[in-house]
Amino acid sequence: MHENPHKHSRLKIVNIWVDPVNMRQALYRVHDFLERGDRLHTVLSANPEKSFLLRGDELLCRIFQNADLILPDGIGIVLAARILLGVRLTRVPGCELMQNICEMSACRGHSIFLFGAQEEVNEKAAQTLEERYPGLRIAGRCHGYVPEDEMDELIAKINESGAGILLLALGSPKQEKWIARYGSRLDKVRVCQGTGGTLDVIAGAVKRAPDAWCRIGLEWLYRLMNNPSRIKRQKALPAFAWRVFREKIRASL
Ligand code: UDP
Repeated sequence: MHENPHKHSRLKIVNIWVDPVNMRQALYRVHDFLERGDRLHTVLSANPEKSFLLRGDELLCRIFQNADLILPDGIGIVLAARILLGVRLTRVPGCELMQNICEMSACRGHSIFLFGAQEEVNEKAAQTLEERYPGLRIAGRCHGYVPEDEMDELIAKINESGAGILLLALGSPKQEKWIARYGSRLDKVRVCQGTGGTLDVIAGAVKRAPDAWCRIGLEWLYRLMNNPSRIKRQKALPAFAWRVFREKIRASL
């Protein structure tokens, strides 16, 4: 098992882990993985929904613990870090880091493989990213509905593409489990970021909350209003708040 040199600064918040990085530091770490790494590095996002998924799922917990970088993606994690640990984090949304990675790659010549989402979304996202970041090389792409018996072929395609970055957009926990299962077979990829539904946002199939909503920590409300079926997933938010409250009370007794 590889040693993560930053593991000592990693924070545990309720039942999920997070690295205390801001956007610049996160991007620098990715840069370092790409320029100096000789293995696959995984970049995951921490938010209350993931914390909910981690409950009782040993494999998913192990995947998070072994990740090379875990972003403070959600406002819930940022607030919980402040309340429980007195640590001030700033949000590093995975979808923004992903776009910064694309911008950096366009300048530094790293190529990218996009895996995930519906075929038309994946295709449109690839096109949009190439237009938005001139010079960016999308070395390959594949929609996210590949049957298990075609996975060997996909792994070969990713390896042959020579891409150093894999943007994995299968949603959670599917994407994390995919890395655990197939990550060791990726021989050229140096950074794999789990990006959830970001390709849908890039392709314009799903709208991201306007900046003002994000700044005041209400991105979740905007997403809920635009897609009421998310209510099932967003029950993770009050559950997470309750666990933070319980831990705070316990710590002050
Ligand atoms: N998806 C996929 N393959 C699957 C299931 C889902 O590619 O087998 C894609 C889906 O099309 C969508 C994304 O994964 O683009 C899930 O987005 P969601 O917002 O649910 O993920 P989150 O960011 O919340 O993890």
